[in-house]
Amino acid sequence: MKEKEYLIESEKAYSPLNAIEEASRCLLCHDAPCSKACPAGTNPEKFIRSIRFRNVKGAIETIREANILGGTCARVCPYEKLCEEACSRTGIDRTIDIGGLQRYAIDYEKDCGMKVLEAPPATLEKVAVIGAGPAGLAAAAGLAMIGYRVTVFEAKEKAGGWLTYGIVPSRLPQYVVDYEADYVKSLGVEFKFNTKVGRDIAINHLKAQGFDAVCIAVGLQGAGALEIPGADLEGVKTAAEFLSAAKPANGNIDIPTNVVIIGGGDVAMDCAATAKQLGAKAVTIVYRRTIEEMPASKTELEFVQKLGVGILPNFKPAEVIGEKGKAKAFKAVGLDWKDRNTSVEVSDSVIQLKAELVVQAIGQIPEDISFAGLEAGGRGLAAADSETGKTKVEGIFAFGDIVNGGKTVVEAVARGKAAAKAVDEYLSSRRIGSTTSKEVAAGKEGAR
Ligand code: SF4
Repeated sequence: MKEKEYLIESEKAYSPLNAIEEASRCLLCHDAPCSKACPAGTNPEKFIRSIRFRNVKGAIETIREANILGGTCARVCPYEKLCEEACSRTGIDRTIDIGGLQRYAIDYEKDCGMKVLEAPPATLEKVAVIGAGPAGLAAAAGLAMIGYRVTVFEAKEKAGGWLTYGIVPSRLPQYVVDYEADYVKSLGVEFKFNTKVGRDIAINHLKAQGFDAVCIAVGLQGAGALEIPGADLEGVKTAAEFLSAAKPANGNIDIPTNVVIIGGGDVAMDCAATAKQLGAKAVTIVYRRTIEEMPASKTELEFVQKLGVGILPNFKPAEVIGEKGKAKAFKAVGLDWKDRNTSVEVSDSVIQLKAELVVQAIGQIPEDISFAGLEAGGRGLAAADSETGKTKVEGIFAFGDIVNGGKTVVEAVARGKAAAKAVDEYLSSRRIGSTTSKEVAAGKEGAR
């Protein structure tokens, strides 16, 4: 059955013995560089030490306290560019498998039905979070852990954003995302699905409903469209159209024999893996620069190469050739790069590939947030403080992909955590201000 490979996690999990063995390779570095390299502030040295000494609960606490999406990040983080790149063991033989050990601990938590986080009673102000992607989930969890009453408004029917509607399940199984979204719910966060703020409910109504702060954590959607002949043919899709059709259907979609993917990032890799695992015979990634310059993580690139996906570097799209309105072939022209920014087309280097499906994974565009009345930050993004998410509109915070244009999942988690802290500072100071003014008023009353 073709969906089987697509739905089953490709990376093998550690057994308890193997996890301890791997953890025992750690040098327990003083001032561990791995721990400084995690955007979400997870402390690998600490959780690896816990696993090594068979304290898995301690490891889970270290991970969860730093990252509510610890199981997701264990699978999708570009470790080789973050904590594993910093690992001192690399100089001796090979890096510690930090991602694999993080996954081991979080899987153990789920398998044992353990819950290490407990939120205090929700007695503080009401906060609305718009968007249930990684940034929104991290902010919601952070606020709930302080005692805020949090409601997440999500336009789609499930939480997770790109985790649910994009990333290939053989890399990130859906049960992992569902489990972590449920974790956020178990902290007392309320979810309102199929509710798009700006369409189903106005932002002013949120204020009228007593929300004291609003967090905008919507993400990106669609993709930049190809401007080449044949781009409007049937069979030419954006990455979002392709992946969001495949995932909710558990891979039960029609895939043609020949597929071309345009782009070189992780989204392009997800498209390629999806097409290949769902039965396409020939899948080719066309990228305009060299393989070394691809922004995709090394792990993802190696994964699709192992699946047998072909890569055509230094070629740019020229035309989609159709027959009776449907895509049949894809034409690309070679590029000769003079320097990083200058290239010339090589006229005698033209290639034509059979392609009944052409997927454009060439950058996404921000969701429409005109409903919020925020200042624009360029390219349709929101203008907000890149650290705290503060905007020029009082009580409205914006963070994650909608501000930075889309980075890694762990970066979105980091931004959500920082925004939760900023919202808490804002509401705490407002509370103190209002208590002080009440005291002043009471003092005046008493003096009369
Ligand atoms: S840098 Fe590597 S060896 Fe050092 S503590 Fe971190 S995981 Fe262990």
